[in-house]
Amino acid sequence: MAKILLVDDSKLIMEFGKSILSNEGHAVSYAQNGGEALEMLSGEKPDLVLLDVVMPGMDGYEVCKRIKADEKTHDIPVIMLTSKDETEDKIKGLNLGAVDYVTKPFDAGELVARVNTQLRVKELHEALQEKNRQLQELANKDGLTNLYNHRYLQEQLLKEIDRAKRYDLTLSFVLVDIDHFKHFNDTYGHQTGDVILKTLGELLLKIVRDSDMAARYGGEEFALILPHTNFTTARETAERLRKTVESYDFEVDNNQLQITISLGLACFPHETIETSKDLVESADKALYTAKNNGRNRVEMYCPE
Ligand code: GH3
Ligand code: MG
Ligand code: MG
Repeated sequence: MAKILLVDDSKLIMEFGKSILSNEGHAVSYAQNGGEALEMLSGEKPDLVLLDVVMPGMDGYEVCKRIKADEKTHDIPVIMLTSKDETEDKIKGLNLGAVDYVTKPFDAGELVARVNTQLRVKELHEALQEKNRQLQELANKDGLTNLYNHRYLQEQLLKEIDRAKRYDLTLSFVLVDIDHFKHFNDTYGHQTGDVILKTLGELLLKIVRDSDMAARYGGEEFALILPHTNFTTARETAERLRKTVESYDFEVDNNQLQITISLGLACFPHETIETSKDLVESADKALYTAKNNGRNRVEMYCPE
């Protein structure tokens, strides 16, 4: 069942159209003129509009133009209803973005066939859009952890630093690196290591806010983008993450295994941080310090 909006100033046409399309199982609503149609379109969106060309006041061409100009409605297929058999009028409607036309007085079978064809096209189009969205999502994700990948992280970081500069906001960035993970792999095997990476990804997602972003930076390194977050809050988040991981029992094949992580934190604004590259490098320096100072700790690049 589809929702169809029938726009026609003729009562006869409205009733005829409604009975035909209702028989097909569609829900039909109607408007008697262009203004009423546009008002209805600003509410619940129909799946398709059947639009009379000749109406008092705003004609069908103008209504079609406005439907197509508004990004909230431009996806709705419009079929023009024209009583004239003039080729020029049909072309005009199609050029304005209508997908088809039906000439009045219309044949019930033809109306149904044309409406159902356009509804099918719309459905296929939407399915394709959804598939594209899913593919895009997949392209931005890391296969093992399902976190965002390195490329997407870099893209987002560029945007976030631009935004922080433009609106005078704070922005924090955290690099997370598992301690002695090579040794862990050597001891328990690479597959067990993979389970740890996956689970750590889940822990990261639990700890950050919805507005934050967790990504797999590469290998056994992760990253957090914390928009709107100053160094005090960022350090608290990092410290909470460190403690959570330290005390967490990672379940693998009925074994309970433990790891620790080191974290490097950098914050914008800072006198030496101008670009997203600076931010990453600064966090990396802090991480290096955390490793040198004994691991399982948070170090920050920003002075307090
Ligand atoms: P450090 O405390 O200095 O960080 O020591 P580390 O051993 O963690 O660091 P190093 O850079 O020497 O080694 C990183 C290890 O991470 C080696 C590599 O096998 C492991 N690793 C990287 N990617 C993956 C992965 O996808 N799966 C598994 N299981 N291990 C990975
Ligand atoms: Mg590493
Ligand atoms: Mg490591």
